[in-house]
Amino acid sequence: LEDAARRAGVRIHTRTAAEQITALPEGGFSLALSGEGVATLGPALRASRLLVATGGNPKSGAYDWLRELGHTVAEPVPSLFTFNVPASPLRDLPGVSVPHARVVIAGEKLQYEGPLLVTHWGVSGPAVLKLSAWGARRLHELSYHSTALISWVPAHTDESLRSWVQQFRLDNGKKQVVAHAQFGLPTRLWRTLAEQAGLGPETRWSEVPAKAQNRLLELLLRTPLQVQGKTTHKEEFVTCGGIPLAEVNFKTMESRRIPGLYFAGEVLDVDGITGGFNFQAAWTTGFLAGQAMATAPVPQAAA
Ligand SMILES: Cc1cc2nc3c(=O)[nH]c(=O)nc-3n(C[C@H](O)[C@H](O)[C@H](O)COP(=O)(O)OP(=O)(O)OC[C@H]3O[C@@H](n4cnc5c(N)ncnc54)[C@H](O)[C@@H]3O)c2cc1C
Repeated sequence: LEDAARRAGVRIHTRTAAEQITALPEGGFSLALSGEGVATLGPALRASRLLVATGGNPKSGAYDWLRELGHTVAEPVPSLFTFNVPASPLRDLPGVSVPHARVVIAGEKLQYEGPLLVTHWGVSGPAVLKLSAWGARRLHELSYHSTALISWVPAHTDESLRSWVQQFRLDNGKKQVVAHAQFGLPTRLWRTLAEQAGLGPETRWSEVPAKAQNRLLELLLRTPLQVQGKTTHKEEFVTCGGIPLAEVNFKTMESRRIPGLYFAGEVLDVDGITGGFNFQAAWTTGFLAGQAMATAPVPQAAA
């Protein structure tokens, strides 16, 4: 890609930061620089058109230079992060995963189903990451403190699970509960849930007291995890927020406020769930902006 860019006449200056953009009265822009590139480029570059593709940043102040130009910024918050659960009932199960669980944030309208991974610090996996993306703003408001309820049997309701257990007890009364995992759950996870329900290693299904059975059903449907924080900055994948889409022409990615200024990628208020959608958004908007910038008429004064 770099070779292709160089062949097309693109000059690449690394370790060089754009500090400030000034829209010039005669048209075009002056771009104040810092870093190594200043030695060859000087302290400022003149440009008839400018593309801002500086990526996301969860710190609001990182967008001040774009606010100063006259743009607004949808407040940035992190997205695609995992949950920290310091006092997790699953803390002895790092590495255990299930292909299909439901994660519900108690008292909120936030839930997601998908693969779930127990980690050393809490829980991760697509179910958590995607929930963090859909709930990025609300979870930020909650300071990343909430109760996550995990259903390990998302196909079941309270009623259907209760019926299932009643029938299973009738058919398998002599089977030991802890030793035989059900619902395709990993043995270690099943054992942990059964033990937390108060069942001993020898208990048979026919001997399970009503209280322990209720507790097991509750844990299967709603294992409560006290979420206290998220993965720290740098480990989260994308930023929710940025330049509002209403301030950009979708066909060209040109600013609706400052002619000649273009935006592409995560600096825009676009964030996707996992699965390559963020790369796709960056590539697509970059392509559109590049095409439009190459064919747009050069403003006379800056030509
Ligand atoms: C660990 C991790 C894993 C990811 N995995 C995936 C994935 O699997 N699928 C997916 O779709 N997305 C993924 N993403 C998100 C994806 O990488 C981004 O959405 C995408 O790279 C955004 O592209 P961009 O060009 O807009 O910004 P970036 O790739 O962030 O590039 C912006 C560049 O601008 C530079 N810059 C910033 N400010 C200035 C300035 N003032 N002056 C000069 N240069 C500046 C930065 O140094 C950076 O090099 C992941 C992100 C992370 C952090």
